[in-house]
Amino acid sequence: MNHMIRLAIQKSGRLSEDSLNLIRECGISFLSSTYKLKTEATNFPLEILFLRDDDIPGYVQDGVADLGIVGQNVLIEAGYPALEVETLGFSKCRLSLAVPRGANYTGVGDLEGKNIATSYPEILGRYLAGEGVKAQLHTISGSVEIAPSIGLADAICDIVSSGSTLLGNGLREVETVFRSEAVLIANQNLSAEKQELLDQLRFRMQAVRRARR
Ligand code: ATP
Ligand code: ZN
Repeated sequence: MNHMIRLAIQKSGRLSEDSLNLIRECGISFLSSTYKLKTEATNFPLEILFLRDDDIPGYVQDGVADLGIVGQNVLIEAGYPALEVETLGFSKCRLSLAVPRGANYTGVGDLEGKNIATSYPEILGRYLAGEGVKAQLHTISGSVEIAPSIGLADAICDIVSSGSTLLGNGLREVETVFRSEAVLIANQNLSAEKQELLDQLRFRMQAVRRARR
């Protein structure tokens, strides 16, 4: 009944522009306006939904969207690693542990019994378990970097790209917990028609990546 494939991308944020550029570089044309929640391509059976990035893995898992573009950090945190079909090479960042600049830190074992603020309790919890460290994780959704200075935590785990935000908050990066980049994700029960459209899209995306190198 639905011959179009639905792709969810971030409405406004760090993934948005590169996601739109990738679709355009795949030769797909569409009209986009900043206040619309969806748009249809004019020369490919594709519908684009604009959503908050955090909602995208769940919508693709449930089939509300067939495809999505998100950071691996959000995908893994949501608990759906199996949805990944293609790495896209943009929005590279890392999830790191940081401590106050003056703190005495010799290794991840120093975090035993400490309070750590993060928006990524799932990824951090797995990392600490792998290191054999038990800590109290405090999940906060934003402004994680200020937690130590207001006495909310001894350390933080957050997204880092340049390190300047950490520096500005008197923090020092001490461990890389996870490396992330944008990925294409897909529902695992696509119809044969949609699977064929996904294959065409992946083929074009791979060509775009090769041409960029
Ligand atoms: P939303 O309002 O959609 O929930 P958000 O504030 O959660 O947006 P953004 O800050 O726009 O998210 O980041 C989106 C994704 O981009 C992150 O999940 C991560 O994968 C990647 N990212 C985050 N920070 C950086 C950065 N400094 N450099 C490169 N990529 C980043
Ligand atoms: Zn988000």
